[in-house]
Amino acid sequence: MIQLEGITKSFGSLQVLKGIDLEINSGEVVSIVGPSGAGKTTLLQIMGTLDDPDAGTVSIDGTNLSRMKQKELSAFRNKHIGFVFQFHQLLPEFTAIENIMIPAFIAGVSNREALTRASEILDFMGLKERASHKPNELSGGEKQRVAVARALINNPAVILADEPSGSLDSHNKEELHQLFFDLRNKFGQTFVIVTHDESLSKITDRTVHMIDGMIQY
Ligand code: ATP
Repeated sequence: MIQLEGITKSFGSLQVLKGIDLEINSGEVVSIVGPSGAGKTTLLQIMGTLDDPDAGTVSIDGTNLSRMKQKELSAFRNKHIGFVFQFHQLLPEFTAIENIMIPAFIAGVSNREALTRASEILDFMGLKERASHKPNELSGGEKQRVAVARALINNPAVILADEPSGSLDSHNKEELHQLFFDLRNKFGQTFVIVTHDESLSKITDRTVHMIDGMIQY
C-alpha cells in the first residue's frame, strides 16, 4: 500500500532522514515511535506528500508520487490520504458537520453527497447529536473525533496521524485509539500513526522504531 524507498531529507546541514526504506501493507495499523528529533514527523509529512524528500521515492497504491506535478499531487492527496494532527485544526466558525464536509467540497463532491457522507460518518462515531455544534461547544475528545471524521470524508485508503491523542486525557485517548481499529475493521483503511503514547504503540499491528533519521530493526 505505502512504499518508501531510499528517502533522505536534510534541513540545512542537519540530515534528518538518512535513507528510509519502509513498506506498509493495506489495512495495517502501524505506529512510528522514537525519541524527539528522530525524524518521525518529517517522515510522515513526506509519506503524505506534504513535503518533498531530497532523494528517494514514495508510492501509494502502486502510484509513484515522486513523479507527479503539484496540481496532480494535491488532487491525489485530497482523494487518497486523510490527515489527523495533534491539535484538531477545526475551523471555529463552522459546525462539526460543515468542518467534516470541507475536504469533500475541495474534491468537487456535491453538497448533497457531502452531507450524506458526513452524516453517515458522524452516525458511525456516535456524534450525530453534535453535528450542528461549533468546535468550542465540543469536548476535546469530540473535537478530535470530528477531525478524524473530516479525514475520512473522501474515503481515503490511508490515514496519517501525528500525535493524534497527544492532547487528550486517558479516557478520550482510549476511545480514539479504539476508533482507529473500528475504522480499519469496517472500512479497511491503512493507518500510520506517529506517537509517543505507549498505550497506542503497544496495540498497533506493527511498531516502527526510528532513531536519528533511521529505522531500527
Ligand atoms: P518530535 O517527537 O519531537 O515531534 P520528530 O521525531 O517528529 O520529533 P521531526 O519533527 O521530524 O522529529 O524533526 C526532526 C529534526 O528536524 C528536528 O531536529 C527538527 O528541529 C528538524 N526540523 C523539522 N522540520 C524542520 C524545518 N522545516 N526546518 C528546519 N528543521 C526542521
